[in-house]
Amino acid sequence: MMKTRSVEKVFAPPPPHYVGDGFRVHNFIPSLEELSMERMNPFIMMDYNSKFVFPPSKKPKGVGVHPHRGFETVTIAYKGKVAHHDSSGNSGVIGEGEVQWMTAASGILHKEYHEENFSKEGGEFQMVQLWVNLPARYKMSKPKYQGITRKDLVSVALENNAGFVEIIAGEFDGKKGPAESFTPIHMYNLHLEKDGVTKLSFNENYNTLLLVIEGSITINEAIKATSDQLVLMANDGENFSIEAKEKSIVLVLSGEALHEPIAAHGPFVMNNQREILQAFHDYNDGKFGNLED
Ligand code: MN
Repeated sequence: MMKTRSVEKVFAPPPPHYVGDGFRVHNFIPSLEELSMERMNPFIMMDYNSKFVFPPSKKPKGVGVHPHRGFETVTIAYKGKVAHHDSSGNSGVIGEGEVQWMTAASGILHKEYHEENFSKEGGEFQMVQLWVNLPARYKMSKPKYQGITRKDLVSVALENNAGFVEIIAGEFDGKKGPAESFTPIHMYNLHLEKDGVTKLSFNENYNTLLLVIEGSITINEAIKATSDQLVLMANDGENFSIEAKEKSIVLVLSGEALHEPIAAHGPFVMNNQREILQAFHDYNDGKFGNLED
């Protein structure tokens, strides 16, 4: 018999801060005490730019060239457009509902900006950036980039016209999403109509969370969460239900827990201090490649 997975806690967004000059984010993971890297592994960082209107700007706002090693950065745009360039020669622009999945692994330099035309016009901007941890055996593998646009996303209609699920990674209802991950991860955008209900099910040991992008929901017919709130599901069962009180969008994340030590310093997330020092050495020696600002 499958057990019900209960809600551990609902979190309001912490006060925002700026990353560069283009991302006004609430950091849920790891700043909130109960959302440590160890607890949420493999989701070791979550920055959420709640809806915010950026005025027109001739110079695109964002974050200049910086390094990463040891994990993947996953950026999902909900409003506005994000451009990316990295030292492996990969670049891309993503718009509403689209995803940049960059595997930093052994090390890259990248920069992240508002897309040029969006920047000129300004407007509503909303996005999520996640850092997905890599298991020790893949931390020094080759960097890669997956630009996931509208046509790549796999959409699955829900029963009773409740809405649809857009799969980014992993599986829903036997269908597979486009993103390749190194460990088992499910990542969807759940679009529910008003009064739409769906059931979700993930392995009990998978760390699971919901971010309400739009609207308001009730989990297991009991716990309410509204836009910009994050719901941490307990690891006490598999199945849970989500009902929308109004038309809603929910980012659903569930991943197999990685039980490996974490050593994190700024843009590097490794397994021990020696590897962090090595990352600084390699970065200073120019081993992360070249990228113009
Ligand atoms: Mn970055």
